[in-house]
Amino acid sequence: MQQAEAYRRELAKLQADIVACERCPRLIAHCRRIAAVKRRAYRGWDYWGKPVPSFGDPAARLLIVGLAPGAHGANRTGRMFTGDRSGDFLYDALYRTGFASQPDSSAADDGLTLKDCYITAPVHCAPPGNKPAPDEFRECRAHLDRELDLLPNVRVVMALGRLALASYLALRQGRGESFSKSDYPFAHGAIFNICKMLPTVLCCYHPSQQNTQTGKLTKSMIINVLERSKQIVRDSRASERPA
Ligand code: SF4
Repeated sequence: MQQAEAYRRELAKLQADIVACERCPRLIAHCRRIAAVKRRAYRGWDYWGKPVPSFGDPAARLLIVGLAPGAHGANRTGRMFTGDRSGDFLYDALYRTGFASQPDSSAADDGLTLKDCYITAPVHCAPPGNKPAPDEFRECRAHLDRELDLLPNVRVVMALGRLALASYLALRQGRGESFSKSDYPFAHGAIFNICKMLPTVLCCYHPSQQNTQTGKLTKSMIINVLERSKQIVRDSRASERPA
């Protein structure tokens, strides 16, 4: 119990460090510029305009890894996947599968909570054109690396898209694990255990409008992946039980 409390405190400290981080000058400048110019529909908003912290349940067994905050979504509201269509899609799916307390996510103070689920990103600042540069992925990976150590219950990592998976694989390689990234190719619904170890990795298309509006990712597809994550957690609990 005491250790769980210590993890929570360190996790909160990490999120404060992320919000204060300025390691990527290009991204920091972009976040501030977007916050100053704003979108016409959000002219009355006081944009967040800085790195967006992770969000969720510190005791989570499901860790969702997205890509980066949306310029007028999370960069506006200050909470992951909050305030844009991608978030509407994701949180509705999380609500329907029991991971979220409500289907809507409009603002950081809207009362939404997550249960057994934690949402992070390989890049915590909104990038121009939604495309972080390789060195920005590298810089921000240090935060994710630290975060993983502070989420001791995680059994499933759900990678939203190829870049999320690539970042996670790079992180594991950075921890000294020896494998080829080509052994773990991205495919929607793919499941694998890198080097036969936990956590299990589960792939899902990113809920970007590009994917959801074209039908590449439907609500039932993402719900199926989330249900699969619950099954994996159940199976891992059964195998951890003493014989
Ligand atoms: S992307 Fe990550 S490392 Fe770069 S400035 Fe933002 S929080 Fe810091």
